[in-house]
Amino acid sequence: MNILLLGSGGRESAFAWKLSQSEKCSHLFIAPGNAGTSEYGTNVNLQATDFVGLKIFALANAIDMVLVGPEEPLVKGIHDFFLNDELLKHIPVIGPQAEGAQLEGSKDFSKQFMERHNIPAAASRTFTRDTLQEGFEYLPTLGLPVVLKADGLAGGKGVLICLTVQEAQQELIEMLTNAKFGDASSKVVVEQFLQGIELSVFVLTDGDHYKILPSAKDYKRVGEGDTGLNTGGMGSVSPVPFADAEFLKKVEDRIIIPTIEGLKSEGICYRGFIFIGLMNCGGEPYMIEYNCRMGDPETESILPRIESDLVELLLGVAEGNLDEKELIISDKIAATVMMVAGGYPGKYLKDKVMSGMENVRDSYVFHAGTYEDEGEIRTSGGRVMAITSLQDDLFTALQQATADAARIYYDGMYFRKDIGFDLL
Ligand code: AMP
Repeated sequence: MNILLLGSGGRESAFAWKLSQSEKCSHLFIAPGNAGTSEYGTNVNLQATDFVGLKIFALANAIDMVLVGPEEPLVKGIHDFFLNDELLKHIPVIGPQAEGAQLEGSKDFSKQFMERHNIPAAASRTFTRDTLQEGFEYLPTLGLPVVLKADGLAGGKGVLICLTVQEAQQELIEMLTNAKFGDASSKVVVEQFLQGIELSVFVLTDGDHYKILPSAKDYKRVGEGDTGLNTGGMGSVSPVPFADAEFLKKVEDRIIIPTIEGLKSEGICYRGFIFIGLMNCGGEPYMIEYNCRMGDPETESILPRIESDLVELLLGVAEGNLDEKELIISDKIAATVMMVAGGYPGKYLKDKVMSGMENVRDSYVFHAGTYEDEGEIRTSGGRVMAITSLQDDLFTALQQATADAARIYYDGMYFRKDIGFDLL
């Protein structure tokens, strides 16, 4: 098969690594990819949202399947674009159509979906500019802190946790009337704060059947000890030690099954990954958010633990027979340390020459924000490279990933040295 993978981050490097191992994959293309993905296939100079460019490329290269890494093309309807085109509609796209992608694209939609299907989640209501006053009245009823969420995609920045009612009122005005997050905050979900430990569970579905992929925990704050600004993710661990069989059974019964059944009962055809962001509140799972794709850097920890052929599983999604496919998960533990650019998540250094990758001893190197220039690898993004180690126990995985990250050098290099140590 000729497979086209869309995206350019560490998640896509891990996908490219895994897809290229399949006997079913004769040629892998990655659009646009990065300096690492070109080790596993051919990078294509097209953005993941350039639907017309992707159409021309897919037809010219006899593409048999498209796997969509990031959310933006899904929310913008890439799957619908393929289905509605006579020349493209035979090519399966892994990732939901725009309607299903609303689970991530609109927090209001996803909260209403959870409510309709009795999925446990924080109490919330949605407000617009016209109902600002009602929002003011609702805010103090939720206790403190209180959470405000821009309805639309806001590049991971649209969630605010406010410590006082005054701060929340001010932010509500900023979001609704001063368009703090542009159009994305024309609606705001006001939500109760959930106290607990966060984790994510990932599901692959053909719309009818599902497979539960390994759980993972990611680390969002830039600083050690979970301090400082929020980032796209500084590291991850899979599995999550506190997500035992009993907890995961609750997640399946109360969240996964109602989600799959809910999508089906509403006539939403969903073929792809569902990222279930959870809070473990004293052993009870509560939904925080859905994403319509895999997480980054969770994917870098999850894929090395999947022993089965990923292309076979994706074929099951495309053909609606995922129940006939086998999912084998390794008992080993994966830890991922994300190496970032100096200054990230603020204004960060770019174009720095990278060295030392050949010194990595026992970890996978998944490129994220990198490019190749005259034989040298240089940095281009805030998150530069994910280092994942797969070992028999969590301590060794953490130690190895951290030690291997330290073997790589570029000006301004930074990574957290405490990823996962809270779980030991
Ligand atoms: P979201 O984009 O909905 O995942 O929110 C981003 C982050 O905000 C989450 O990963 C949580 O750390 C935090 N968060 C969101 N909703 C809540 C909530 N109701 N209670 C506590 N923390 C939350």
